[in-house]
Amino acid sequence: MDHFLYRDGVLHAEDVPVADIAAEVGTPFYVYSTATLLRHFRLFDEALEGMDHLVCYAMKANSNQAVLRTLAEAGAGMDVVSGGEYRRARAAGVPGDRIVFSGVGKTADEIRIALEGGIRQFNVESEPEMILLDFIAREMGVRAPITIRVNPDVDAKTHAKIATGKSENKFGIPIARARDVYRMAAEMPGLEIIGVDVHIGSQLTELAPYELAYQKVAELTEQLRADGHTITRLDLGGGLGIPYERTNADPPLPSDYGALVKRTLGHLGCEIEIEPGRLIAGNAGLMVTQVIYVKSGEGRDFLILDGAMNDLIRPAMYDAYHDIIPVVEPEPGFEPHPYDIVGPVCESGDTFAKQRPMPPLKAGELVAFRSAGAYGAVMSSEYNSRPLIPEVLVKDDQFAVIRPRPTFDEMINRDTIPEWL
Ligand SMILES: *Cc1c(COP(=O)(O)O)cnc(C)c1O
Repeated sequence: MDHFLYRDGVLHAEDVPVADIAAEVGTPFYVYSTATLLRHFRLFDEALEGMDHLVCYAMKANSNQAVLRTLAEAGAGMDVVSGGEYRRARAAGVPGDRIVFSGVGKTADEIRIALEGGIRQFNVESEPEMILLDFIAREMGVRAPITIRVNPDVDAKTHAKIATGKSENKFGIPIARARDVYRMAAEMPGLEIIGVDVHIGSQLTELAPYELAYQKVAELTEQLRADGHTITRLDLGGGLGIPYERTNADPPLPSDYGALVKRTLGHLGCEIEIEPGRLIAGNAGLMVTQVIYVKSGEGRDFLILDGAMNDLIRPAMYDAYHDIIPVVEPEPGFEPHPYDIVGPVCESGDTFAKQRPMPPLKAGELVAFRSAGAYGAVMSSEYNSRPLIPEVLVKDDQFAVIRPRPTFDEMINRDTIPEWL
């Protein structure tokens, strides 16, 4: 459920007409709903009720300072995957002991920043990383709290580019080698073993892969305890999918997921950490764009929008589906017409949808891409010298620009000319 609904025939973001925002900030833009962000965070928080837990929002999904602040004030921790994200989390007011550091390629600088600023734990992804982390921690005279990310070799049954839990993926340590690696870690004085970490992929639409992975984690936890390690925390990753396209088989709810966690891992008495990103931010955002032209081609018609693949790359990158709806509610009983919906970028890949049945639309009208709050703005670029599009946050009947559109001068003046030119 989200808070983008038609009211009196026009699309609203909470209590704000989307067209009012367009009139003020221009198109295209992203708009996020505070109520939806909070609702989704609380669904996870409630799903784990009864277990000691922390929901660490995977901020790579949407790392705008205002989004982070909104979630942090509601009690969320943060899952970061770079030094930049760590700084963003701190800048949004998140204390270090609520920040978890994931990622396969943490650099020495990134490790230092987190150890200096405070960290809940590092999710270690390889032996070389463990050796470096131990070295830096000893150099700084501290002990780095760690979990080790295990790769359970489970098929997440999702798009290949976002599956992370198969043995051929670059992530984690093969679960079969985990006991040896924990033994190594226990001998490193710069490290403090806290628990086990697993994350098998993103946009999962069934629970079965989680069940398989968490059973393996439960088994491993018991073995590790028998080996003499203190395992008090399980980080279970993120990845629960959202219904981009309404079908009969909607993805499972956070409550179903929570019940699965309790069933598979509850008996271990560990503190549970989860790292949802997409399910918190995805349906909390729209990308709003304007129809520039309606173009008739050979046997097909094109809707050419002012939004493009540089603004929202998911369709080009993951063959992703986004619902695209007009901002003015169509008349009931309208005759749908199939369009190829495209942006202005000079690539055929700049196609959002092919032969999508749409209500009648004219140049100048606004359309909204639903479920664009996660992996939208954060993955945008200035390809074709199109300035990054603004982000807007709505709360009830208020809205605020939370990242302005840069001017063309700002964009151009980021480049510098060497003195020999
Ligand atoms: C990307 C990622 C997540 C979040 O995945 P979602 O599908 O957005 O929930 C969580 N943990 C790790 C380690 C990740 O890389």
